[in-house]
Amino acid sequence: MAGRGRKISKRAFIRKGLAGLGGLYLCQYWRPVFSMPAGGSVVTEADKLWKWSREAYHYISTPRGMKCRICPNECEVKPGETGDCRNKTVSGGKLYTIAYGNPCSVHADPIEKKPLFHFLPASSVLSIATAGCNLACLNCQNWEISQKSPRETRNYDLMPEKLVKSAIEGKYRSISYTYSEPVAFYEYTLDSARLARQAGIKNVVVSNGYIHEKPLREWCKVVDAANIDLKSFSDDTYAMLNAGKLEPVLQSLRIYKEEGVWLEITNLIIPTWTDDMSMITQMCRWLVKNGFHDTPLHFSRFSPPTRLSPAQ
Ligand code: SF4
Repeated sequence: MAGRGRKISKRAFIRKGLAGLGGLYLCQYWRPVFSMPAGGSVVTEADKLWKWSREAYHYISTPRGMKCRICPNECEVKPGETGDCRNKTVSGGKLYTIAYGNPCSVHADPIEKKPLFHFLPASSVLSIATAGCNLACLNCQNWEISQKSPRETRNYDLMPEKLVKSAIEGKYRSISYTYSEPVAFYEYTLDSARLARQAGIKNVVVSNGYIHEKPLREWCKVVDAANIDLKSFSDDTYAMLNAGKLEPVLQSLRIYKEEGVWLEITNLIIPTWTDDMSMITQMCRWLVKNGFHDTPLHFSRFSPPTRLSPAQ
């Protein structure tokens, strides 16, 4: 991967360091939310473009590789590498996504499962995800798809047109881009959301909020509702637990609000990691001070409770 091609990537360092300190690792017994359709395919050739490749929407060429400008990881991807999200690759001097129209998860969910408690209540939402994520949370429940490349999962063939047609035929009022991380399948989400909007279907993103301003504002033009994870209110915790940073998420919250997207926020309470009441108080104060006093805030229970060692 682009990040891992350096001497030692932030993610590799965190994983090694934490595993050595406290035995923190993702456990094989975690149950992901996904299904493998009969007749799905697994492709392993690392560099090959396929029918689910599209040129990426936000990148620049640098001497060190194709620099992706979708999220703050800003991966500089060289031929033979992938971005940290595992689904950006380089071919012929261009950056491509390989997660376009090939979700590994397709489900009908109650909208409250997102969770969205104040948007199309009691409706069913057609929910999709491709493999890949731009963060690497040690507590991820969906790690079997989020920490994989689309080349490693069994995938549906569901281009944006077909996805929207399925939603219309199923009489869904909304489509949700969820489970893994829609920022990591940005191009597929954006194009699907544009078509869905034209068809009168609402778009919902369930996201870590780890995205640059320009792609986010573009996205907000067609996204109707979002549930954003505010995983903690500590840069250190973001670095150790998620391989990310806090400030870009706060900026995304402000942008969602400014752009008029219906917003709900989720804070996962992980005992000894994110349950510090002074940190939660600080988070709530920040939310109120920054105009989120009427934004629903969900506190989620960590489950299963035995996969992370207590923080030291
Ligand atoms: S979306 Fe983020 S993680 Fe993926 S390639 Fe682009 S900058 Fe890297």
